[in-house]
Amino acid sequence: MLSNKTALITGSTSGIGLGIAKALAQQGANIVLNGFGDVDGPKAEIAALGVRVEYHGADMSKPAEIEAMMAFAAERFGQVDILVNNAGIQHVAKVEDFPVEKWDAILAINLSSAFHATRLALPAMRAANWGRVINVASVHGLVGSAEKSAYVAAKHGVVGLTKVTALETAPTGVTCNAICPGWVLTPLVQKQVDAKAASQGISNEDATRQLLGEKEPSMQFTTPEELGALAVFFCSPAGNNIRGVAWNMDGGWVAQ
Ligand code: NAD
Repeated sequence: MLSNKTALITGSTSGIGLGIAKALAQQGANIVLNGFGDVDGPKAEIAALGVRVEYHGADMSKPAEIEAMMAFAAERFGQVDILVNNAGIQHVAKVEDFPVEKWDAILAINLSSAFHATRLALPAMRAANWGRVINVASVHGLVGSAEKSAYVAAKHGVVGLTKVTALETAPTGVTCNAICPGWVLTPLVQKQVDAKAASQGISNEDATRQLLGEKEPSMQFTTPEELGALAVFFCSPAGNNIRGVAWNMDGGWVAQ
């Protein structure tokens, strides 16, 4: 369905971003990966799906590096047809204890990077009259949780940016939507499980059950594969007129 398209997924060396990259590659899209840590493993996984794959190591907190990444993608593939703004980090502390540099980093990586990549991707998408901008927000783009001020502020911002981008592109073949996952067991969440287990002196299993029990009636993690399937749906012809939604996949978290 997506052969001849190129998808750039930020923060795709791990977790949800890698899951979405694989799902788009399974539909035939060429892939630009980005993120830190192991690159060869994710690159090989994508290449095994029979598509072209490139990697750019831009630090998403740095606008100049985001510009270099978008220029690299255009140079290698002609243009970016599908942009998935996914890179994100978390830090947990009360507002009055929140380290200022962590606030700045979360706003830069989780929110401003989506603005920069989107502003740089839109001209070519408009020219082609086809494009998909998919922002990986969170249930925290829709509701709050204690001790996550920067993350919740950034993710609410992402949902706002999604709506405005969708309105500005509404008369075109370019759409913009957000995906709002609940708990997904990636390294980002594993750190929170480990912290809970350590601070309460409980087992990892008990910490996991507690984490899910507080928020998710389904008592189940959402998987990167399920989120990948939603991204593919947004890219399908059925997604042509889905504009500006913030679609939660969250085991009932925000239905409560
Ligand atoms: P993860 O830690 O597994 O992956 C994060 C990715 O972002 C990695 O590839 C990492 O290298 C990359 N990254 C981090 N800082 C970066 C930077 N400065 N520049 C470039 N890349 C950077 O986390 P994940 O859980 O897969 O999170 C992906 C997205 O999903 C994030 O935006 C996160 O907020 C969101 N999300 C996660 C959950 C969850 O439960 N895991 C729930 C809702 C939303």
